[in-house]
Amino acid sequence: MKRPGAAGQDLAQRVSGLIRDVPDFPRPGILFKDIMPMLADGPTLAAVVDHIVSVHRPAGFDIVAGIEARGFLLAAPIAYAAGCGVVAIRKAGKLPGRCLAASYDLEYGQGVLELQRAALPAGCRVLVVDDVLATGGTLAAAGALTESAGAVVAGMAVLVELSALAGRERLSSEVTTLLVG
Ligand code: AMP
Repeated sequence: MKRPGAAGQDLAQRVSGLIRDVPDFPRPGILFKDIMPMLADGPTLAAVVDHIVSVHRPAGFDIVAGIEARGFLLAAPIAYAAGCGVVAIRKAGKLPGRCLAASYDLEYGQGVLELQRAALPAGCRVLVVDDVLATGGTLAAAGALTESAGAVVAGMAVLVELSALAGRERLSSEVTTLLVG
């Protein structure tokens, strides 16, 4: 499992204090990890973005894919910091034009993710970003979409991994996380 090094551990502590646990949201029995306080803290957001870029830079990536919706809020600044572009992986029916689709299971539900067919140049290396890794269905679908588009998953990054759900075991790509909850 990829966990942060020493500098990352300090950051992980800071981030941990800015992620709010919300019991029974959006359904009874779910402990929701609310990253909004972290996003609202400018210096911490900047440090998180820089950390993710530095961890994934050695493997190399050409573009960042953000997963709707909180993944977008991380993916765009990561792309900006890395000097590359960003694409959106969205829930079904939100993207115009021809799309690739992949269905997935959530910790609390089921859905379909889509990616515009022309969004990724063939062979480009994609860093896939989301806020939370729970059962792994969402990231698995995002990885499948990336590969269906003819691109390569260079890596995956989340802020929080809910390790009890063992989502990582469903994924064939390397996932980095700041916090394990
Ligand atoms: P999964 O596909 O089960 O790994 O679920 C991950 C996706 O669902 C991410 O896009 C998260 O935003 C969301 N999610 C699942 N569980 C939680 C949770 N406990 N707290 C916050 N977001 C969650």
